[in-house]
Amino acid sequence: MIRTALADFVSLIFPQVCLACDEPLARGEDHICTGCRAQFPYTDYHKLPPTRIRWPVSSGVSCPCDIP
Ligand SMILES: [Zn+2]
Repeated sequence: MIRTALADFVSLIFPQVCLACDEPLARGEDHICTGCRAQFPYTDYHKLPPTRIRWPVSSGVSCPCDIP
């Protein structure tokens, strides 16, 4: 209870905002608000077979999350 009250007080001074829309987060939300979460597109990446992560060392920066 004291920890929650302290966290609420700290959030008055340093409010946590959504990383996508900069709106204040509600209690229980982390990083992304529920409204933005609801607008995320469905990718169904979890249905794809596992693939090797390609990380070309010599070609500079590459995102390992790119799925061909
Ligand atoms: Zn948001």
